[in-house]
Amino acid sequence: MTDFTKQKVVITGASRGIGKAITVAFLKKGATVIGIYGSNKQAADAFAEDCAQYKNRLYLHQCDVADHAAVKKFFISLENQFDTIDILINNAGIRKDKLLAMMDYRSWQQVIDVNLSGTFNMCRYAVLLMLKQKYGRIINITSPVADLGFSGQTNYGASKAGQVGFTRSLCKEVARKKITVNCVSPGFIDTELIADLTLEQKKEYKRFVPMRRFGKVEEVAATVLFLASKDAGYITGSVINVNGGL
Ligand code: NAP
Repeated sequence: MTDFTKQKVVITGASRGIGKAITVAFLKKGATVIGIYGSNKQAADAFAEDCAQYKNRLYLHQCDVADHAAVKKFFISLENQFDTIDILINNAGIRKDKLLAMMDYRSWQQVIDVNLSGTFNMCRYAVLLMLKQKYGRIINITSPVADLGFSGQTNYGASKAGQVGFTRSLCKEVARKKITVNCVSPGFIDTELIADLTLEQKKEYKRFVPMRRFGKVEEVAATVLFLASKDAGYITGSVINVNGGL
């Protein structure tokens, strides 16, 4: 697969789960990665230690993607240090499941703020850099819940469907500048995001998956790297499923 040497990648939610696998995959292919985490400094420090061999190419920053002012500040310092970026992966995401009849407004708003407004905040500034250099790759990590729905996930489903609509609109604005914007939609992937599921629930959900297993973080990362490569230059506005046939 493509070599990403000399390419600069910003990945949100880079310290754990799927984002961590994407970060490692890019580092292995020579990229410089500027990774963002939310609040878990311990996990970020542990990850940085695991990646000591890449310490000249891995930069981890705390930044709440839901905080527009903080994201703007992050991009100002990024531009000072790195000049521009080639690739943005909007991966940071949270869940706060509750049946709608019992969902408080805060759970609704937090999920929309991180998953959807976080995607807007990051793209808002990344696109300026990409337009200037007339090249870019943006990949937003959505979910099958955007299409299929899931009981208890009106907030999460709306945020993930919102990312798809956002992607399809933004791709049309920037296509002529050789910037592609796509979504990757992972199915069930065994990360801390679904750590609240009981073994019984996991077993039941696996029965729904035609491949009868959950996906691996590396399988999502491989798809992201393909879409981020120069070879994928004619793919834009697409949603690529990595879900075992859901
Ligand atoms: P995860 O293991 O819970 O990791 C989430 C990552 O997002 C962490 O690095 C976390 O940082 C970061 N994050 C959370 N809120 C943030 C904020 N406000 N600002 C900046 N960073 C923030 O989740 P995951 O399973 O890897 O999920 C990654 C993405 O895939 C999400 O968008 C999720 O919706 C999507 N997805 C996951 C699955 C699945 O089955 N796992 C399926 C479909 C889609 P901290 O460590 O600092 O909290």
